[in-house]
Parts: sequence; C-alpha cells; structure tokens
Amino acid sequence: MLDADFFRRWMTAAAASVDREADRLTALDSPIGDADHGSNLQRGFAAVAATLEKEAPGTPGAVLVLAGRQLISTVGGASGPLYGTLLRRTGKALGDGAEVSREQLAEALRTGVDAVRTLGGAAPGDKTMIDALVPAVDALGDSFAAARAAAGEGAAATTPLQARKGRASYLGERSIGHQDPGATSAALLVAALEEAAGE
Ligand code: ADP
Ligand code: MG
Repeated sequence: MLDADFFRRWMTAAAASVDREADRLTALDSPIGDADHGSNLQRGFAAVAATLEKEAPGTPGAVLVLAGRQLISTVGGASGPLYGTLLRRTGKALGDGAEVSREQLAEALRTGVDAVRTLGGAAPGDKTMIDALVPAVDALGDSFAAARAAAGEGAAATTPLQARKGRASYLGERSIGHQDPGATSAALLVAALEEAAGE
C-alpha cells in the first residue's frame, strides 16, 4: 500500500529529476516553444518540495492536492495549471484514506489526466504531455516500471507528430521532428513514481 510518505517521496524525486533535467527540458522547448519549460518546472517543483516539507500533509490525497495548488500558483507557463490540475484532481480522487493501492492510484490518475484533457483540450496524438500520461496510466495497473517505460515511449513517439495544442502548434509543420518538452517532463514525473516505490 502507498501512504503519505510514498507520495512525498514521489514529489521529492520528481523535483530532483526536473532539477537534473531542467536544461534538457528547456532545450527541447527552444525549437518549438519559448525555452522556459525546464525553468518553469524547476521553480514549481522546488516550491512543491518546500511546501510539503513545511506543511507535512498526512494523507496521499492531501499531499497531491497541496502539490497541485503550489504548481498552479508558482508556474506561469501553460504547464503549471496543467500539471497542477493533474495533481490536484488526482489527489481529490484519492479521497482522504491513509493508504491507497497502486490500482487506486492508477484509477485516480486517470481522473487527473481526464481533467487535464478537459482543461487543455488536447487528445492523444496532439503532441503534448497527454501523449506520455495516457499510456502511463494504462500501464500503471501492471507495475510502476511498466508505467515508466510506457511514458518514455509515449514521449519519444511525439517527435514525428505535428503539434495541435499549445505554443508549438503555432509552428504548424515546423513542429515535426522535435520531441515535445511537456511529454518529456511527464515521463520524468512517471519515472519518479518508480523511484519513490524503491523499485
Ligand atoms: P508555455 O508553453 O506556456 O511556455 P511550458 O513551456 O512550461 O509552457 O510547457 C509547454 C508544454 O505544455 C508543451 O510541451 C505541452 O506538452 C504542454 N501543453 C501546452 N499546451 C497544452 C494543452 N493545451 N494540453 C496539454 N498539454 C499542453
Ligand atoms: Mg515554454
């Protein structure tokens, strides 16, 4: 079972991973965006880690709701409200139990991903974070490792796509041939789950 500590470890691992990969995320956001994705998420997840340490919420749901709120309030780019919504809505769907199963997390994350789809209007294949998140949620019923692999493959598969949502869509066909920064960071977020599980 997964307790509040697991969810705190998830967010801390995500913050560390985003920090390590910030330059790469920003580099991906430069040909098809405005070169701020790494710094946006670095700032956001650093704030998440700091808030979780200070407030120490006691349930899985409360950890994710607080993390989501923090991302919404600290990240200016499109990705802040989108990731914030993902975590907040996933947290709400987890309810207020002290522990949840991996299967419950998979179900709650699907609710969170659906909320991101509603907010941003992106569908699979539009070259966004959705392209990593949807396959990850589908695979999470099997294992954290399967979810990590599926998210990584989903992110890589955005390269040949033409962007239909977000800033990259303004480039039309010129968005083809570049991996989507948000799908790349979504894969980091999913990989951090496996780290938190210690697998
Ligand atoms: P901005 O585009 O405002 O500079 P970021 O650079 O932080 O914000 O994030 C860009 C990423 O956000 C994109 O690579 C994409 O994955 C994601 N994104 C942008 N718009 C949408 C949307 N409508 N739905 C889902 N994801 C989106
Ligand atoms: Mg950007």
